[in-house]
Amino acid sequence: MSFDLSSRLAERRAAHLYRQRPLLETPQGVNVMVDGEPLLAFCSNDYLGLANHPQVTEAFAEGARRWGAGGGASHLVVGHSTPHHELEEALAEFTGRPRALLLSSGYMANLGTVTALVGQGGTVLEDRLNHASLLDAGLLSGARFSRYLHNDVASLQSRLAKAEGDTLVVTDGVFSMDGDLAELPAICDTARTHGAWVMVDDAHGFGCLGKTGGGIVEHFGLGLNDVPVLIGTLGKAFGTAGAFVAGSDDLVESLIQFARPYIYTTSQPPAVACATLRSLQLLREEGWRREHLGSLIARFRQGVSAIGLQLMDSSTPIQPIVVGSSARALALSAALRERGILVTAIRPPTVPRGTSRLRVTLCAEHSHADIDRLLEALQQAVASLPESHD
Ligand SMILES: *Cc1c(COP(=O)(O)O)cnc(C)c1O
Repeated sequence: MSFDLSSRLAERRAAHLYRQRPLLETPQGVNVMVDGEPLLAFCSNDYLGLANHPQVTEAFAEGARRWGAGGGASHLVVGHSTPHHELEEALAEFTGRPRALLLSSGYMANLGTVTALVGQGGTVLEDRLNHASLLDAGLLSGARFSRYLHNDVASLQSRLAKAEGDTLVVTDGVFSMDGDLAELPAICDTARTHGAWVMVDDAHGFGCLGKTGGGIVEHFGLGLNDVPVLIGTLGKAFGTAGAFVAGSDDLVESLIQFARPYIYTTSQPPAVACATLRSLQLLREEGWRREHLGSLIARFRQGVSAIGLQLMDSSTPIQPIVVGSSARALALSAALRERGILVTAIRPPTVPRGTSRLRVTLCAEHSHADIDRLLEALQQAVASLPESHD
């Protein structure tokens, strides 16, 4: 008996599902050098252009000089430092929740929160298109776990009717591969009727949605009673790293006691929290970034429909173009790259079979001329491919 890794890899390659890591040779941004080529990029999650913002970088550097390079211990031992604490207070104030807890990544925040809240005897209900970290968390929790149809409140309701024990309804705020918004007001109403709690992972909504960048809950005007468990990640629009859970004092205290991915890991470097404090300020105050993004989104959508490509129902900076097969998505991505444009092909298992796509993401640092370059390249790339037969 032995592990036959080479045939597993060969199989993946034959299915056009093999993944490779492009090497980024410049800081994150819209004009990047990747694998030796200068490219105009439309694929990061740095929606507001804060990952390489001079003020954020300076706050990071200043934070490192003052607080050192590493956290040095877990939060419960002696790794919970003043910048972490200040960031938690700022995030609680920003989200309008009593408390916020800082974690080292969104993956860990989701795993830690779901598994701390529900276990055997409880129920987790998730949108079937939720982020992988939420689906993994549901499986790991040991609770009864069921996925409802995407954004389908009737499908959620029929599962809620059969749910047992403490029940958590979990959804992305903005769906990461489709860009559409969760039907949160209806989901919250339905959950409340059944005495279930709603947990929203708004990784892609914070910074982009809502008047002050407060994400999907600000967009819909939903409070703590509607969404008792609110997750945000800091590696996307915030441009730094880490994640937070915002909610009641009891929620945060429970996570400190019971969330293993919080307890058994080193705190993030305090300097990262210093950088995030600055990016939070820019995210809230510089509303022009959201306004400009909105105008880029409108221009892009209008141009793509003129070319006759299939867009998804998205008003966010995530603007996927569904092309069908993995092979075609890869071919289009390669044809764009020949024209100096970087857009990644997203394939199964990240998205359902037959819905491979180019996941175009827009950034406040893009100009209208950048959008026009993308549209022109898309038109040429489509024309350069043989007709699709899927
Ligand atoms: C990116 C993402 C995560 C993971 O966050 P990290 O901080 O990158 O680990 C979780 N949920 C959603 C919806 C995401 O898009």
